Amino acid sequence: MDADIKKVLYSEQEIQAVTQRLGQQITADYQGKNPLLVCILKGAYLFMADIAKNVSDYAEVDFMNVSSYGDGVVSTGNVKIIKDLDIDVKGRDVIIVEDIVDTGQTLAYLIDLFNGRDVKSVKVCSLLDKPEGRKVDVQVDYAGFEVPNEFVVGYGLDYAEKYRNLPYIGILKPEIYTE
Ligand code: 5GP
Ligand code: MG
Ligand code: MG
Repeated sequence: MDADIKKVLYSEQEIQAVTQRLGQQITADYQGKNPLLVCILKGAYLFMADIAKNVSDYAEVDFMNVSSYGDGVVSTGNVKIIKDLDIDVKGRDVIIVEDIVDTGQTLAYLIDLFNGRDVKSVKVCSLLDKPEGRKVDVQVDYAGFEVPNEFVVGYGLDYAEKYRNLPYIGILKPEIYTE
C-alpha cells in the first residue's frame, strides 16, 4: 500500500468484478442499440477501459474533459469544459462514464448539456458514489461502489494530479491535503 493512503477501500480484483457486472447490465439494457460511451477525463480513464471491454455488441467511445475542482479537495460547482467531444451526440444513446458522483453538480451540468444537444437518451455509469456529498439530485443508473464522505484516490482519481495510477481505491491521509 502506498504510504500516503490511510485505508484501501476496494482492491483491483473487486473493481474488475464490479466492472464486469456493470458491463453485462449495460449490454443487456442496450441490445440492438449503438450507445456512445462518454468518458469524463481524467478521473474515469481506467474505469472507461474496463467498462468498454465488458460491453459487447457495438458501442462507440469519446472523451470529454471537465473541471470542477481545480487542485483542491472541495468541488467548486463551477463546471468548465476543457475538452469537448468529437462525435455529434444528437439522436444518440449516451452513457456518461464517471469516476465518482459527489455533490452531483458535474453530472447535473453534463445531463443538461447533452439534453440541450438533443440526445435520444442519457444515462450515467459511475465507478463510485458518495451519497453523503449530494447537493443536487441526480440519478446514477449504473453504480459500482459507495464510498464514505472522505477524499478518495486511485484507479483514475487524483489529488493534485497524483495517485491516478494506483490500481485500487483508497482513502488519502488527510495530512496530505491539509499540511
Ligand atoms: P461533483 O460535481 O459530483 O461534486 O464531483 C465531480 C468530480 O469531483 C468527480 O468526477 C471527481 O473528479 C471529483 N471528486 C469528487 N469527490 C472526490 C473524491 O473523493 N476524490 C477525488 N479524487 N475526486 C473527487
Ligand atoms: Mg470526474
Ligand atoms: Mg480531480
